[in-house]
Amino acid sequence: MNQIYHQFGISQEVLAFGSKIEESLAERFAQLDKIAEYNQMKVIAAMQKHRVSAECFNSSTGYGYNDLGRDTLEEVYATCFGGEAALVRPQITCGTHALALALMSNVRPGDEILSPVGKPYDTLEEVIGIRPSKGSLAEYGVTYAQVDLLADGGFDYEGIRQAINEHTHLVTIQRSKGYASRPTLSVERIGELIAFIKKIKPDVICMVDNCYGEFVETKEPLEVGADMIVGSLIKNPGGGLAPIGGYIVGKKECVDNAAYRLTSPGLGKEVGASLGIMQSFYQGLFLAPTVVNSALKSAIFAANVFERLGFDVLPNGSEPRYDIIQAVTFQSPEGLIAFCEGIQAAAPVDSYVIPEPWDMPGYDSKVIMAAGAFVQGSSIELSADGPLRPPYTAFFQGGLTWYHGKLGILMALQKLYDRKLVKDL
Ligand SMILES: *Cc1c(COP(=O)(O)O)cnc(C)c1O
Repeated sequence: MNQIYHQFGISQEVLAFGSKIEESLAERFAQLDKIAEYNQMKVIAAMQKHRVSAECFNSSTGYGYNDLGRDTLEEVYATCFGGEAALVRPQITCGTHALALALMSNVRPGDEILSPVGKPYDTLEEVIGIRPSKGSLAEYGVTYAQVDLLADGGFDYEGIRQAINEHTHLVTIQRSKGYASRPTLSVERIGELIAFIKKIKPDVICMVDNCYGEFVETKEPLEVGADMIVGSLIKNPGGGLAPIGGYIVGKKECVDNAAYRLTSPGLGKEVGASLGIMQSFYQGLFLAPTVVNSALKSAIFAANVFERLGFDVLPNGSEPRYDIIQAVTFQSPEGLIAFCEGIQAAAPVDSYVIPEPWDMPGYDSKVIMAAGAFVQGSSIELSADGPLRPPYTAFFQGGLTWYHGKLGILMALQKLYDRKLVKDL
């Protein structure tokens, strides 16, 4: 075993250090395996209930009327995530598109959207119009209110009560912290928040941005009162196989509204050819629980490796996980660059390229990105990135297999070790 790692340039010291950390995580990993086992059963049960068959993998073109595979997959998603209906389409191009679709189809001019968990994901700022943007909800006369989390990460219940008014029509709750420094919300906490909001205004639509959260726990937000969950298929639920796509699952009315906006009033879910990619959606969903398990193990391993070496890590090595993102702060550009180079060097695709910090639209500093993925931009595959500014934090996520995640972290550590950026192991 050591020999094959040596072939990658990983030294005996790094290997021994990694092994020690891995051994200390045995119990934690066993708990994660139980969650994956439960979620695997959930997916299989949903597929059996809706009689998934080989015909479901057939392709449709043109209008896509009566596409059995597409329609059955949407029933599978609805059952699996606990909703009445689902929209799961390759025509939804990414997570932001799915969220924009869910929002724009479920509010009308004069309505207000409330985020009770602080600033939403960067790309949603333009969808909502927090940052002025062509076609934003603000241009259509939809207003936006925000209540930040308290300093300790708790909900500002009093602030939320005051923010809810007669125009409040939709509440958007982001499960994952994304690239912010607030805590990620557990499904249980999301349930508490929704119960509080519904007590004040029962008919408000509670939408959860579920990106990076699917299959991390055994429960999903629809099971604790959410009306609609939204996510990307090139993250968790695509299992690394879906080459594109997004989903909306929840109340039938919310999903229908989204369908009438995705295609057209009057057409809704009836059109939308699947173009031969249904098998990847089914098979990706089937694999998703174990893929998420691998990504979680990789994140926890990284947290423990770099915490032990004195770096700030978020979440820390021992706290519970509610999404697959791991932040590691290096306090130096050299550390961040070495980490990303290591992740890239471990990739099955494009391992021979060296990532370079580069100017990116929307950022006020250079950004370095490591990704050697089968699906471009896929962040359920092992990937890392970070802006080249203090405190030099790498955001790390994904790993289709735990062994690949482990290799990536060992390669990253080796780069830091070779450049004398870590103290003795
Ligand atoms: C990734 C992500 C999005 C946006 O998804 P894209 O596919 O990148 O457009 C929105 N919200 C959260 C929390 C995310 O992690």
